[in-house]
Amino acid sequence: MNFGVYQALYIVSAGCFILALKWMSSPATSRRGVLSGELGMLLAIVATLLRHEVVNFEWIAAGLILGSAIGVPLAMLMPMTHVPQRTAISQACGALASALIGTAEYFRLKPHGFIMGALVLETLLGFLTFTASLMAFGKLQEVLSSRPITFKGQNIFNLGILGVAVVLGGSLVVHPENTLVFPVFVGLALLFGVLMIIPIGGADMPTVVALLNSYAGLSACAMGFALDNKLLIIAGALDGSSGFILSIIMCRAMNRSFTNVLFGGFGQLQTSAAGQEARPVRSASPEEAAAILGDARSVVIIPGYGMAVAQAQHKIRELHDLLVKRGVDVKFAIHPVAGRMPGHMNVLLAEADVPYDKLVEMEDINSEMAMTDVSLIVGANDIVNPAALNDKNSPIAGMPIIDAFKSRTIMVIKRGMSPGFAGIDNELYYMDKTLMLFGDAKTFVAGLVKELGSNHA
Ligand code: NAP
Repeated sequence: MNFGVYQALYIVSAGCFILALKWMSSPATSRRGVLSGELGMLLAIVATLLRHEVVNFEWIAAGLILGSAIGVPLAMLMPMTHVPQRTAISQACGALASALIGTAEYFRLKPHGFIMGALVLETLLGFLTFTASLMAFGKLQEVLSSRPITFKGQNIFNLGILGVAVVLGGSLVVHPENTLVFPVFVGLALLFGVLMIIPIGGADMPTVVALLNSYAGLSACAMGFALDNKLLIIAGALDGSSGFILSIIMCRAMNRSFTNVLFGGFGQLQTSAAGQEARPVRSASPEEAAAILGDARSVVIIPGYGMAVAQAQHKIRELHDLLVKRGVDVKFAIHPVAGRMPGHMNVLLAEADVPYDKLVEMEDINSEMAMTDVSLIVGANDIVNPAALNDKNSPIAGMPIIDAFKSRTIMVIKRGMSPGFAGIDNELYYMDKTLMLFGDAKTFVAGLVKELGSNHA
């Protein structure tokens, strides 16, 4: 193919990637963003395949079939609530691909200077991201223990391993002909990936996955320099910077310091609030709850992880419609880390066609909470737990929350008194103005819809 044509395709593809990131930053345009990213990737692949450098299309076809045979079932079988581990496993594959290309280029060319420097960076980041992502997958999938494993002098030991790998990489830049050094360098990078993840608890894993995404992007960016492929440089840099920014946003939203996440020993998942005495709570039936909702002037629905588990978003949309019909002002309060991945609630509510202008970010809704008649919490727990504000010793101390406790009446749909992700009790449930609505979120909301649709119309 003509040099100018594929360069032009690469430029259009890079434009699609940039627009994809821009559009994906708002629920209203996110679908367009995904399409733009897909189009960009298709153009990139077509342009690359049409370059004269492709030597064997049979191998590429075999790779395509094998990749699709793994990727398609992975995407279809893993539920939305497992997106962090799905991301971890796919980025392990991407990082390995980048690292293997770097390895092949090294043994093919054994280049000196700048290109060798790029190959060293590509393979170092690629191999360490590969094992680190596999470890993150294991912890999120609970194949491995999610507890942090720590030992004395761990950070120094880990940094020492990385330091030796960097020194060996540097020596390869000067003497690429020392091929025996390369496998040792690769072994240390793989080992560092494992060591980097073991001190980090399961609770911090989604943040780590975002950070590893950034490393995989930087590896691809270095590969772009090694192969003189400008599209890889652009796409890798976009991936590297957006993954890094996302991990910082997640740290802030959970009030976790970036260094704590990275150097671990924190974020230990607590699985039960066992050993505590059962305290009395007030509960209500769907009939009683529907009557209160129907009489309210303003209702703020606060969705959380339980809405995703129950797949209650469509029923919630019906509830929203019925309440709006009765003249109730209904809004959705969106916490940045509700659920198990950034944007989790936005995606589910968009799927159920909840109008975007009804979704209000935490910072904006909190000023309205004291004037709100009813907070309807659907499968959310940590993101409304006042302990984050009141208890300095709480594992979620300092995490910003949605101020449901300020509203006039609080209703909480959940199946029992189990804690949420942080494994801690929630004082909100014991407040005088709180009503617990026990049941699966989808079933309970269906009950509310039935009541409001018939008796109170
Ligand atoms: P949460 O604290 O995990 O609480 C979810 C609640 O949903 C549980 O208390 C559970 O209680 C209930 N539930 C589960 N299945 C249900 C069902 N079928 N029907 C009704 N209720 C159900 O969730 P969250 O308030 O959304 O908070 C998210 C947590 O995840 C935060 O701690 C956040 O830091 C963490 N996190 C989020 C991200 C992210 O990117 N979004 C990443 C990493 C960590 P029952 O079992 O009693 O029903």
